[in-house]
Amino acid sequence: MQTDYSKELDIALKAVAEAAHVCRSVQFKIAPDSLEKQDRSPVTIADYGSQALVSRALEAAFPDDPIIGEEDADELKQPEQFAFRNAIHAELAAMNIYTNDDQLFSWIDRCGAKEYSDRFWTIDPIDGTKGFLRKEHYAISLALVVNGEVVVAAVGCPNLASQVTNAPEKGVGLLFSAVKGQGANVCSIWSLDQSEPVKVSDTTDTSATRFCESVESGHSSHGHSAQVAELLKMQEEPVRLDSQAKYCVVARGEADIYLRLPTRVGYREKIWDHAGGYLIVEEAGGKITDVEGKPLDFTRGAELSENRGVVATNGRVHDEVITALREVGVA
Ligand code: AMP
Ligand code: MG
Repeated sequence: MQTDYSKELDIALKAVAEAAHVCRSVQFKIAPDSLEKQDRSPVTIADYGSQALVSRALEAAFPDDPIIGEEDADELKQPEQFAFRNAIHAELAAMNIYTNDDQLFSWIDRCGAKEYSDRFWTIDPIDGTKGFLRKEHYAISLALVVNGEVVVAAVGCPNLASQVTNAPEKGVGLLFSAVKGQGANVCSIWSLDQSEPVKVSDTTDTSATRFCESVESGHSSHGHSAQVAELLKMQEEPVRLDSQAKYCVVARGEADIYLRLPTRVGYREKIWDHAGGYLIVEEAGGKITDVEGKPLDFTRGAELSENRGVVATNGRVHDEVITALREVGVA
């Protein structure tokens, strides 16, 4: 059956915007020294709060849809975690959502599907937790996969800015969305009804391209990307930022290439780290494959087990990037 996915998009946008507001609220409260102390509690609170909110919205609208999410509530259920539970309840209450522990656990654990099915959602409640803790970029990524194809995506980037809204003080916090075959759009997390289309760059000369990659060299090989940049004679420094905000930056043409190059044998990319951003770039006119040029295979459950790494480009320079990866020995 053909569907336009307008209800799915509407629910996804509202859910991700709500989650983004909770994440912002928690990130604002991060103490300056929490990084040095390696205090991960803000991530814990925002991660669970964000996943609970998205799950709650999906449960109400699509009660039969399975969700493959990053978090489960096992740890949160431990008696000694009461302070975390209270902090999450406080964040939800600030959004006028009053609930109890059992309901909270149930929302979080509804995202516990592991296996592929014909129709499922995948959620990363906070992608780029290291960026979140550094008070830098992170994303909330939600995608619907039907018959192995990503068909709806909503990716919230609470710290990305643009002129998309008329209210300058509300210019920070963007929500990218896409429906398969219908293009990609961006709006402010503050006003979901004012959106504009996003398009990848039209750069064809690889020496004029700019690439982006993870801040964390453990997530993507900076050494190999530097070799590719040299081979393709790129003049610009790479843009390093956390999370699927990288896909969004390529989708709106601020970078031409996103390289995610394997750092260790055997690591398999998780679908929640890619499904949302993937459709945004594809619908903005770009191309996404793994490092060997193979399409990403979203039919394998929680992992992209048939793929290694990810390359997203404006489409025009894709083949040259894949050839360069082969030449430097990545593919
Ligand atoms: P980024 O913010 O782009 O650096 O990516 C953050 C994501 O990297 C997290 O959500 C993790 O799931 C994922 N990750 C963890 N270890 C690795 C690894 N060795 N290679 C690639 N991605 C990883
Ligand atoms: Mg992630």
